Amino acid sequence: MNFEYTSEQIQLRSTVREFAAAEIAPHVMEWDENQIFPLDAIKKAGELGLLGAIFPEDLGGAGLGYIDYAIVIEELARVDPSVALIIAAHNSLCTNHIYLAGSDEQKRRYIPKLATGEWIGCWSLTEPEAGSDAAGTRSTAVLQDGHWILNGGKTFTTNAQYADVCVAMCVTDRQASQHGISAFILDKGTPGFRVGKKENKLGMRASATGEVLFTDCRLSPCQLLGKPGEGFVDSLRILDGGRISIAALAVGTAQGAFDAALRYSKQRKQFGRFISEFQAIQHKLADMATSIEAARLLMFQAGAMKDAGKRVTKQSAMAKLFASEMAVKVCDEAVQIHGGYGFIKDYPVEKFYRDVKLCTIGEGTSEIQRMVIARQLLKE
Ligand SMILES: Cc1cc2nc3c(=O)[nH]c(=O)nc-3n(C[C@H](O)[C@H](O)[C@H](O)COP(=O)(O)OP(=O)(O)OC[C@H]3O[C@@H](n4cnc5c(N)ncnc54)[C@H](O)[C@@H]3O)c2cc1C
Repeated sequence: MNFEYTSEQIQLRSTVREFAAAEIAPHVMEWDENQIFPLDAIKKAGELGLLGAIFPEDLGGAGLGYIDYAIVIEELARVDPSVALIIAAHNSLCTNHIYLAGSDEQKRRYIPKLATGEWIGCWSLTEPEAGSDAAGTRSTAVLQDGHWILNGGKTFTTNAQYADVCVAMCVTDRQASQHGISAFILDKGTPGFRVGKKENKLGMRASATGEVLFTDCRLSPCQLLGKPGEGFVDSLRILDGGRISIAALAVGTAQGAFDAALRYSKQRKQFGRFISEFQAIQHKLADMATSIEAARLLMFQAGAMKDAGKRVTKQSAMAKLFASEMAVKVCDEAVQIHGGYGFIKDYPVEKFYRDVKLCTIGEGTSEIQRMVIARQLLKE
């Protein structure tokens, strides 16, 4: 067991940290207030290789492992969780589905452009009536005269409004239940494929979350992704990896809130003393730092197992569950340490507190993570 970062990981962390300080930090509140999708910053992240973090170099990616990828997402979330979410959905959901299930031709056609950020990707599993129960998907794809005809709609798709490429799951054989859902790749501009309402959100407001709609959308057979009927099962594999990035998003958000609270506690005086001198505040800081570190270890454990090619269903759910619930608590305490100023938008903890809640919901709620973990435990 080695708990040290490699020199390459330290270099990666400082590169992302410098990028976040220069290109993201100055704009965080403006993007949040006005719900501005930071397209320029995302394109610059693409130039740095962050949009193709986990894909091989011969497909235009950065060739990083999941531990490295977690470092990237953590560092971005520490400054702006919205940016981390945009990049995580692009990498670990959309592009990764094409990488894991795509034909060689699909990989060559899509991954280099997605990995460099020339194209932005989104991934649509959730529907209005099929959230936690994603196997209850209602959107359909019917084979007619050699083409797939898609009808239906998805909700809550991260990056929907800015995506050039969408991977979407539709029912192709209702009788086959979980083995009757297939994945499709849709290009922006395909007739019958459009994005709908953009949601007005509590947090993660610089990320775009929206509907994806299909009306008699005609796709050639080469737009089917993976084996017919295996789109849902492949989605579960995709989520196993994606949850490591949500754990990293949670750890980074908590770290950002903790850093602000620690700083503030050494500046704010009450009763003639810095509040950091009060034991009540010291205990909060100690608990926050300890729980962040524990979550980071779970996240790295899941990442290391993924990099070793092992199945991570249980570990990634544990990392995601623990990190996201930890981060909600840490952000709450960070606001508490700021007192009334924590409630004011001039201080960064107000935004971390709003953003962090997504971590216990996206890519499977905490309740669903507990179900996933329990199922794995009962199987062992
Ligand atoms: C900002 C944002 C971004 C998102 N991005 C994407 C994306 O890019 N792509 C995508 O496909 N989806 C995305 N989602 C959707 C997200 O994954 C779902 O919201 C989530 O899976 C929960 O589904 P739901 O909202 O329908 O809640 P529901 O499934 O309706 O759940 C409601 C409540 O019931 C609980 N519950 C449900 N079933 C059970 C059960 N069996 N046992 C115990 N409790 C249960 C849930 O835990 C929750 O507390 C995003 C969501 C948000 C808010």
